[in-house]
Amino acid sequence: MGLKMFIGLDIGGTYLKGAAITAEGEVKQRLHEPIAKLHADDLLSQLEAAVRSLDGPDRNAVGVGVPGIVDSQSRVRVSPNIPSLNGIPVGSELGRRLGRRVFLENDANAAALAEAWLGAGRGANSVLLLTLGTGIGGGVVLGGRIWTGVSGYAGEIGHIHVDPDGVRCGCGSWGCLETIAGAPGWQRRAEDALKVRESLLRGQHLEPKVIVEAARQGDAVALDVVDGAARALGTGIAAALLLLNVDRVVIAGGVAAAGDFLLDRIVGETRQRVFGNVFADCTFRLAELGADTGVIGAARVAMVQGSPSP
Ligand SMILES: [Zn+2]
Repeated sequence: MGLKMFIGLDIGGTYLKGAAITAEGEVKQRLHEPIAKLHADDLLSQLEAAVRSLDGPDRNAVGVGVPGIVDSQSRVRVSPNIPSLNGIPVGSELGRRLGRRVFLENDANAAALAEAWLGAGRGANSVLLLTLGTGIGGGVVLGGRIWTGVSGYAGEIGHIHVDPDGVRCGCGSWGCLETIAGAPGWQRRAEDALKVRESLLRGQHLEPKVIVEAARQGDAVALDVVDGAARALGTGIAAALLLLNVDRVVIAGGVAAAGDFLLDRIVGETRQRVFGNVFADCTFRLAELGADTGVIGAARVAMVQGSPSP
């Protein structure tokens, strides 16, 4: 009898999710609760209690996904959404409290690993995942393992420079992909257009979902905003493809709910910017795993990191 079940925790900006997951990826037990994020010690205690509530005699290692950059020492370098974790060695501290192996990973990296394993990246050798939301996260999985880079920053595709004349980004640079294709970028560009053009969008809440719906109805301003986001995404993805030559690109996150309407435009913009063979050997898919992505990815991190490198 082996230790067949892995525990995955997904630290979000508002909720902590957890699950016990089999080595085949079946979710057996779930946990979902508001997160105690103001003080690191409270959050560590919450994580410890969550693992204990999901624990059992056949449980193996624990994986934890966090919205921030994670270094090779399982320490959170920086988490814009949960600043109380900045500099905290969450992995080793939780491991010490629990007396078992704990593996910490950036949440977008964990999502990429989950999709590569069981979702839209199945069967691919290498996967680039983008999460489209308020920000734009990314993860790279090469041969079944996350490529973190030497400092944990690999896959930060949202900060690839796509517009030399662009606006300032929260990262300190300007013209980053995120400034155009992140949700605030959609809003800003729609507001700018509404100063001089008429549109169905006037008086509406300018979130991507609303803008996509107006674009589907043929609204010219909304179409320009969608096309601008797709162009920026295609530019960023093309840069990543030329560097990595992966065989699968997965689009995830709330904005991906726009479905093929957005995906087809992203694919078209990417095609114009890469070698024909690089494009031909890559397929583009929408993410498949939904609400369980974070916990499945975190558990998979524990499975993969806990195994010896090939
Ligand atoms: Zn940036």
